[in-house]
Amino acid sequence: MLSFQDITVHYGELVALGSLTLELKRGELMTLLGPSGCGKSTTLRVAGGFLLPSKGSVFLDGQEITNLPPELRPTATVFQSHALFPHMTAGQNVSYGLKVRGAPRRKCRREAEEVLERVGLSGYADKRVQELSGGQQQRVALARALILNPSVLLMDEPLSSLDARLRVRMRMEIRELQRSAGITVLYVTHDQE
Ligand code: ADP
Repeated sequence: MLSFQDITVHYGELVALGSLTLELKRGELMTLLGPSGCGKSTTLRVAGGFLLPSKGSVFLDGQEITNLPPELRPTATVFQSHALFPHMTAGQNVSYGLKVRGAPRRKCRREAEEVLERVGLSGYADKRVQELSGGQQQRVALARALILNPSVLLMDEPLSSLDARLRVRMRMEIRELQRSAGITVLYVTHDQE
């Protein structure tokens, strides 16, 4: 479904990715595991359209998307720092992507509630994100990506800000959600566990 063909990325003199070819199947969760600095985030940035490769092509369902900007790609990214808007409620954070695409308020609200329920936060739409725990904020970040119905969900160390026990739980929950909803995920971590 998502395919990297011979992708090379230079930052100045540094070769961050050298001729990377990979193939992600629909409904699959693929993890990129490796030490800090080996090029995992760079791979994700290329997949999300945040970075143009120096060489090579990216395909999604057989169509070349190498030069397509992030907002025109059917991908969504969950970052390490969840980057939520602190002054907004959980529901407003989740529906933000729909709102900027011009969806009416009632639809934003309804879909935000639905997707919050999917990540185990039903009834949390009106809570301010500052009042939520780290794990709950991470779920809101996940919900914010899921509401866009991405073809591919890109996750960059999404659990690294959580404590060990919560990390294990969220890891299982993400896997469960990915399997039950058949989402395609490219997941980056340096966590060997
Ligand atoms: P990882 O995610 O595996 O930790 P990165 O993809 O972030 O690795 O980085 C790969 C290499 O590219 C590292 O050597 C890093 O220092 C370098 N790098 C990453 N981003 C930039 C940048 N914006 N400018 C210059 N060098 C960068």
